[in-house]
Amino acid sequence: MSKIDWIQQEIDNLKSQGLYNNIRTIGSPQGAWLTVDGKKVLNFCSNNYLGLANHPALVAAAKKSIDDMGVGPAAVRSIAGTMTVHVELEKRLAQFKGVEAAITFQSGFTANLATIPVLVGKEDVIFSDRLNHASIIDGARLSGAKIIPYEHNDVKSLEEQIKANLSQYRRALIVTDGVFSMDGDIAPLPDIYEVAQRYDILLMVDDAHGEGVLGKGGRGIVDHFGLHGKVDVEIGTMSKAFGVVGGIVAGKAVIIEWLRQRGRPFLFSSAVTVPDAAACLAAVDLLEDSTQLVDKLWENAKYFKAEMKTLGFNTGVSETPITPVMLGEAPLAQQFSRELFDAGVFAMALGFPTVPQGKARIRVMISAAHAKDDLDKGLEAFKNVGKKLGVI
Ligand SMILES: *Cc1c(COP(=O)(O)O)cnc(C)c1O
Repeated sequence: MSKIDWIQQEIDNLKSQGLYNNIRTIGSPQGAWLTVDGKKVLNFCSNNYLGLANHPALVAAAKKSIDDMGVGPAAVRSIAGTMTVHVELEKRLAQFKGVEAAITFQSGFTANLATIPVLVGKEDVIFSDRLNHASIIDGARLSGAKIIPYEHNDVKSLEEQIKANLSQYRRALIVTDGVFSMDGDIAPLPDIYEVAQRYDILLMVDDAHGEGVLGKGGRGIVDHFGLHGKVDVEIGTMSKAFGVVGGIVAGKAVIIEWLRQRGRPFLFSSAVTVPDAAACLAAVDLLEDSTQLVDKLWENAKYFKAEMKTLGFNTGVSETPITPVMLGEAPLAQQFSRELFDAGVFAMALGFPTVPQGKARIRVMISAAHAKDDLDKGLEAFKNVGKKLGVI
């Protein structure tokens, strides 16, 4: 027995339990259609909500920035890696989001890892929605604070946990996803804010799937609910609707300043590259210029969901362009996904443990990049496979 044999055994276990990730390779730019493992398919999988991942304006901005400023930042932000493009991006993001200040990170994931530990520590408590994203959970664990989950989107459960526990701790933080990516439901942020206000607790929302999607022109969940100035910290990502890569933290100036001084991924990991930051700036330009792409996204989402319901599918509780197609057991969802792929549609099956037992589904990610004709092709494939497998 070698000391690494256990790893192969664990991988074999994943395979026998149907939990092994078969990673597909995309051989084309992101868009409504993709070349996946050599086959051209309709893309219902990406988080490219606005079609910006291969948008000519972003591509041109990235190219120009390379000519002007090179590729790499060559340092962490706090030593010599803060370039004009980073500062400009943060200024524009703060304006776009309507907050006092913003700071960017390498990703949404690192934004959470940076932010939670600068706000709370060992003597503190975090009230966390039970279905929060992995990066919130990891950030919370890194902080050393006590983590107390509350029932998903359940403000009564949140308040019960606060009443029962708050007095034992120095400081507290409430943290929730804005849009939950498995079901496409939205956190009841006004009610959560009211509770946070009543108990004087810091409030943080991770709006990764709301950035560029919710609110006026994609300004996010805080704009959607008109809660400007009331949510202490918003986390965002530029890897989804913005089509590039990078994390955002937006909020009160003093919190952003504190992150510049103490956020570990800011201090100990290099800045995002010049073309990434320049492309993100071009995304902000586009969103500020026009709501056209965001409007198209919602128009597409409404059309697709309504047609799926007419066909007899159950699209769950989604309030966003994320469209779960509820199928029940994981093997059925996996078979459905394979049949769709054979019919030229790339849509992901999600089963336990990503979603609860018996709630397996296909998750369709709608984009502004889809033409109506693309959606009709997708609907036709869902109809045929649904009939074949006895779902509708
Ligand atoms: C996708 C996602 C992230 C991670 O964002 P990246 O920029 O891809 O690292 C963080 N939080 C939530 C809620 C997400 O959905």
